[in-house]
Amino acid sequence: MAKHKRATIPAVELMDMNKWYGEYHALKNINLTVTPGERVVICGPSGSGKSTLIRCINRLEEHQGGQIIVDGIELNDNLKHINQVRQEVGMVFQHFNLYPHLTVLENCTLAPMCVRKQSKDVATANAMKFLERVKISEQAGKYPSQLSGGQQQRVAIARTLAMGPKTILFDEPTSALDPEMIKEVLDVMVSLVDESITMICVTHEMGFAKRVADRVIFMDAGEIIEEGSPDTFFNSPKSLRTQQFLNQILGH
Ligand code: ADP
Repeated sequence: MAKHKRATIPAVELMDMNKWYGEYHALKNINLTVTPGERVVICGPSGSGKSTLIRCINRLEEHQGGQIIVDGIELNDNLKHINQVRQEVGMVFQHFNLYPHLTVLENCTLAPMCVRKQSKDVATANAMKFLERVKISEQAGKYPSQLSGGQQQRVAIARTLAMGPKTILFDEPTSALDPEMIKEVLDVMVSLVDESITMICVTHEMGFAKRVADRVIFMDAGEIIEEGSPDTFFNSPKSLRTQQFLNQILGH
């Protein structure tokens, strides 16, 4: 499908989407519409398909059935569509995935220069603005290995922001961090709420979900089991599986 204009184009639309790994049915009939600027938190037990779902949204994983449409662009085998979507959709990974041989600044200027064709001066000024935003500009000349995990994740967020994405996918961004570093990363993510960026975030940080999410989605065994506003989701979950998950994770 070519990019088409409608009154309000959803940021992300998954329609009867299915995904198999070989024989294993990892995602089953997923239907999800995310509106521009919406903040969605996806939670659920390990192995339920959360990471696979968001990786399908920028085609890091290929789906086999149904449709995925990102800002009006259908994800299929058309490489032009895949590149268009990847320019609009940033991703923050659990293990940061910074380039180890590049400095913090170079990590943040590489894609804007190569993909957005920014000049070095423009890309540097832009990157420094976002490094300041995540409070790490003083480390711009260091290499990732010289930084703590929390600092590396903040750089990864700055790198994503430097591309000017409409949507950011977060794949358990605090799961690999020591407890004392989780807050500094969550604080940066909370600060993004002021922007009009669409956020789809896989996380076990339920405090973050309560504070920031417009909608919480619960997945189990490759399916979306339940979704709702944080208030409804946490205070009156409908499904037994959601209740059991919340009891486990919130310890009550
Ligand atoms: P979650 O993010 O909820 O922990 P994942 O999306 O990582 O779950 O995984 C969902 C299921 O798909 C799991 O059973 C996992 O083992 C399986 N899976 C994930 N990636 C692959 C892969 N590359 N090949 C085969 N199976 C996979």
